[in-house]
Amino acid sequence: MTPSITEHDQDAGASSRRYHYTGVVEIAGHTVRARVVRGFYGKDSGAVAEVLTDQAEWISLAADALNNWWHDTPPPSPDVHAATVLGPLAERLLRRAAKILAAPQTMVTFSPHIYQAVSALLATSSGFNGECHIDPDDIAWATSHGGALHIFEHPDGSVTFTKAHRDECPFVASKGSQDCDDECYFDLPQRS
Ligand SMILES: [Zn+2]
Repeated sequence: MTPSITEHDQDAGASSRRYHYTGVVEIAGHTVRARVVRGFYGKDSGAVAEVLTDQAEWISLAADALNNWWHDTPPPSPDVHAATVLGPLAERLLRRAAKILAAPQTMVTFSPHIYQAVSALLATSSGFNGECHIDPDDIAWATSHGGALHIFEHPDGSVTFTKAHRDECPFVASKGSQDCDDECYFDLPQRS
């Protein structure tokens, strides 16, 4: 179930160089804001939903790739009604944020060991000085294809990261201590 969104505040404005819309809401006890900025160039623009932490920091919950909206919005002008143009984008981000906040796995915190294992995952797949940039579209695609991400720390210090198993698989149900029953199967998705 998606929690309800209570509107708190909003701010919009337009100049000859950029226009913006910011909406602040409350979702399940969290203060969440969506910020959408449309500049002349893609690099001046962005659409992100953020949640306010107990440490009074905003951390990103969801973002909208420029490809999804930038070309459909008019170039900056003082005449642009920013709330009308960008408000629906902010609303879409806030609905995604509400879904993310409703999912219990977002409250998972990583142990230092898992953090180091992610470093090793990057180092072994992209090199010891590897860097990998993940777009919001990649995240959405990965979430909707294959199994859910599971991370298992084994007693010998090894860590398994997997999207290869269905939720009922014995490997998943036993947190990695029993073997897969070989009934896990996902269709090969077409990437558009
Ligand atoms: Zn399995």
